[in-house]
Amino acid sequence: MSFAASVLTLYPEMFPGALGLSLAGRALEAGTWSLAAIQIRDFATDRHRTVDDTPAGGGAGMVMRADVLAKAIDHASPPGDPRPRLLMSPRGKPLTQARVRELAAGPGAVILCGRFEGVDQRLIESRALEEVSIGDFILSGGEPAALVLLDAVVRLLPGVMGNAVSGEEESFENGLLEHPHYTRPQEFEGRPIPDVLISGNHRKIAEWRRAEAEKLTRERRPDLLAAAQPLVK
Ligand code: SAH
Repeated sequence: MSFAASVLTLYPEMFPGALGLSLAGRALEAGTWSLAAIQIRDFATDRHRTVDDTPAGGGAGMVMRADVLAKAIDHASPPGDPRPRLLMSPRGKPLTQARVRELAAGPGAVILCGRFEGVDQRLIESRALEEVSIGDFILSGGEPAALVLLDAVVRLLPGVMGNAVSGEEESFENGLLEHPHYTRPQEFEGRPIPDVLISGNHRKIAEWRRAEAEKLTRERRPDLLAAAQPLVK
């Protein structure tokens, strides 16, 4: 059973984009996941294929119409479709590795990419869209956010990452940022690799990595450390 992504967008040419290359691209070719990029404009009903209109109550910009979007969503995700329906949105719940894992374990996702000022609120309510943000900044459209979300999900699908272990030791998987990495050469511009890492003492190495991870997290993301309290006591 492969992960089925349907993306609703005004710019289907943006897909698979970066996801057509490297690990995700190979997995797409292998059928580990599938991607349907659906042109929202195809569901407009007027001669000009209009998808947006001026905001009720006035103000700048345009708003994507609920009726056109509903047709597109109902086409991509007919009743009984088990996949979650996501709306990329700066107002959404920030995406986390935990949510990415859940999505990767599921049947796929239907992803709506906003443009302009966003989408009519009634569409979000009537189609029970889960609003997902990729961070506290504003993109010009939901497409790059959808690519980010799918990249994070696809690398977790079975068989996509060669070395499954490395996926489990990464930042966030244990509530901490990851420890620093080193590789050859042994000395770079006068900086040696820390002694402990070439000691061959695996217990010491694990302790050092854990301590470095905690130190980094304390400095940069004390919010994560608070959540990881039980692990670091
Ligand atoms: N007026 C809106 C921003 C619209 S940006 C506001 O102030 O909240 C246009 C579209 O880009 C959005 O509909 C959404 O789909 C996408 N987008 C922008 N920033 C995003 C983010 N941080 N995460 C996810 N999607 C985002």
